[in-house]
Amino acid sequence: MTLQAPEQTVPPRVVLLDIEGTTLPVSFVHNVLFPYARKHLTALLTERADDPAVVRAVAQIGELAPGVAPAEQLARWMDEDAKVEPLKTLQGLCWDVGYRQGELVADLYADVVPCLRTLHEAGIVLAVYSSGSEPAQRLIYGYTEQGDVTALFSAFFDLRVGGKKEAQSYRAILAETGWQAADVLFLSDVEAELDAAATAGLRVCQIARAQDATVPSQRHPVAPDIAQALARFGLSGNGQGVGERAASC
Ligand SMILES: [Mg+2]
Repeated sequence: MTLQAPEQTVPPRVVLLDIEGTTLPVSFVHNVLFPYARKHLTALLTERADDPAVVRAVAQIGELAPGVAPAEQLARWMDEDAKVEPLKTLQGLCWDVGYRQGELVADLYADVVPCLRTLHEAGIVLAVYSSGSEPAQRLIYGYTEQGDVTALFSAFFDLRVGGKKEAQSYRAILAETGWQAADVLFLSDVEAELDAAATAGLRVCQIARAQDATVPSQRHPVAPDIAQALARFGLSGNGQGVGERAASC
């Protein structure tokens, strides 16, 4: 008897998506979002010093980097692209202003919104897991070239469930949602994140975007875009599951 590969069995019921390098070009994050936040962070710390979110983030910075001025520590973290909660929170506050003022529009990969719409219409649960804060995630999907698509998602997970390279974070997501691990397909460009998700029992596929020059994984299924990843897992193009409608997403 030959065992089928996981991607050839029952299609996933949940698709959990990374953002940077998966649905949004890395270049947009690094060339547009990060510089925008860097430009406005210091002013935000003073202008909104009484904002409870700013107060909490500054307190967290003090715990993580005692004796260092918050603005200085934030600059260090930005230089390192550190995935730390207070930085992500404050960046999210900066971007909130930028999106609302029309200075920022999320330039999602072209296949993303059509695929997400098709999956949503087919009853597949969609969720986000990104190191960007939940508010920042909602801004990205709230201000896309195709308009506000946040309603397509059932849940948004960020570093509050833990780091994306830790299997425990994916277990926390399963515990919070009640999803069965084998029902969930996690899509990300980063192999270490796929390792962690697979360790927790999720199905995984790497999105290796040519534009981002992602190095293809040697350990996990790889697809060049969302549409082809979905096809690989029975969610499009084979006349079953989601059906032909997804073939063109
Ligand atoms: Mg990524």
